Amino acid sequence: MCFVTIKRVEAGDSWRYYGCNFCHEEVHLLEEGRYKCVNPKCLKSSPYAEKSYRIMVLAHDKTKAVNVALNDRVVKRLVGKTATMLLEEIEDLAETPPSKLFPRQILDIANENVTFNILISDDNVLINSTMYNATDAYLSKKSKSLTSETVEEILESTEFGFGEVS
Ligand SMILES: [Zn+2]
Repeated sequence: MCFVTIKRVEAGDSWRYYGCNFCHEEVHLLEEGRYKCVNPKCLKSSPYAEKSYRIMVLAHDKTKAVNVALNDRVVKRLVGKTATMLLEEIEDLAETPPSKLFPRQILDIANENVTFNILISDDNVLINSTMYNATDAYLSKKSKSLTSETVEEILESTEFGFGEVS
């Protein structure tokens, strides 16, 4: 586990993808109403695919900044709704197709203090990669009421360490 502050959401790629109903890997649309999973261990096709979150954030603790990939479960926890719910919400409001657009609800997780469950990959160990995968997340209770100014103060005054993993 590690306690970090999310510095910013990397709004480069799309925030969502179509996930396999069986293994949650990405699916490709073969033709209308037929999706095929890209996971070589699965490869199932299905008429349905789940809309799923996948984003990257820059997070930091007192000593260093790291990139953390957030999967569907993690973003769901932070945003408080499923990708499908969020998409319906913004499709009601937006004039442009929202596929590449990062919704405010996702950008708003910046400045949150979060505890991540981190999956340490071989790359983290072997080549000292600073790209981590979060498998779960817990929002700090106090962070919801913080403004960005007070976040800065807390960053200065709080002792916490990255690298305690479970
Ligand atoms: Zn699959």
